[in-house]
Order: sequence, then structure tokens, then C-alpha cells
Amino acid sequence: MLCLFNGFASEVFAPAFPLIGRRKSAGPRLLKAFAALRRILLAISVLFTIYWVLRLLGASWGAAHSVVATAELSIYLVGELLAAMFLWIAFTGRGYCYYCPLGTVLAGIARLAGQKIVTDRTRCIRCGACNEACALSIDVQRHAEKAIPVVDTRCVGCGHCVDACPTRTLCYSTAFIDRRRRVRGR
Ligand code: SF4
Ligand code: SF4
Repeated sequence: MLCLFNGFASEVFAPAFPLIGRRKSAGPRLLKAFAALRRILLAISVLFTIYWVLRLLGASWGAAHSVVATAELSIYLVGELLAAMFLWIAFTGRGYCYYCPLGTVLAGIARLAGQKIVTDRTRCIRCGACNEACALSIDVQRHAEKAIPVVDTRCVGCGHCVDACPTRTLCYSTAFIDRRRRVRGR
């Protein structure tokens, strides 16, 4: 899956961001706050979507229309676009992915598709390169040490942890890829 908004942009501009120091990992409290913000923005986006679908179907709320349109534009420009740009520069190249409502939907689809990062405890040398590479502050190393796959709603499937691992401990997979590997293994 390719997110054309922050995903594509962050990959293209990765060498330039962040400009202020090293990329920072988010602590548990910040992650909790982002998770709550994610749910709130998703709920707001769903309400806006329902509103516009009803409008297209002919429903009319008179003057309320301009209020809704202004509110939506403000949330998009200030709450999302400006915040996303700030997080790009100051926090991490994928800061917006922490609370993006579209990302939440894509994460749900990824979960349905069985997306995961497969780990192999026998190969892990605990170097921490995977955690360093993950812009979404996922503790990939802990998963590798416990030999459990990374299945996380924050994971955007960028594969940077896989590329960063010097011992090829990690491997990107989905239910479809798993099936193909099983068929080929026969
Ligand atoms: S693929 Fe790896 S680096 Fe990318 S978000 Fe998922 S865990 Fe983090
Ligand atoms: S990068 Fe690979 S070897 Fe290093 S801690 Fe992560 S999984 Fe283990």
C-alpha cells in the first residue's frame, strides 16, 4: 500500500528531514496521546464523509453548509497540514502517520491483509538498528528477541527496519505472501 500524502513525501524527502537534530522516538505517554488523537480525527473524518454523502444524495441543512465547509477546511489546513509539516521538520519524517485518519483506515486494511514483519530470534544480535530505523517508534528489536512478528496498527509497512537489519532477521510479509511461500516450499 502506498500513501501518496505523507508516505510518498516522507520517502522522497527522507534525506532532508528532520532538520532539527536526530529523529526522536515517541515515549509511551506521547504514543497514548497520538492514539487518542488518531481516534478523534478518524471520527471527525467519518462524520464529514457522512455529511458529504448525504449532501450528494440531496440532503440540505441551509446555512449549516458553509459552517461545516469552513470547519472542515480549517481542520484540514491547520490541524492536519500545518501540524504534519511541523512534525516532518521538527519531530520525525513520518510524524503525521502517528495520528493520520487515512493511515488508521489503511492500517485496518493492512491488518485484514495480514501485514506483519516476521522475526527470527536465532539471528538477532540486538544491535538496535531496526528500532533506530523505525520512524513510528515501534520496538522491533523486542519482537525479534521474543521471536514474535511485528503486528502493530502504527506500522506503515515501509520496510526500513528490514533494510536496516544487518543479519537479515526481519522479513516483510502478508497473508498472500505467506501462502505463496508455502506453495513454493512444497
Ligand atoms: S515496516 Fe518496520 S520500520 Fe516501517 S513502520 Fe513497520 S516496524 Fe517501523
Ligand atoms: S536490526 Fe536486526 S539484528 Fe539488530 S536488533 Fe533489530 S532485528 Fe536484531
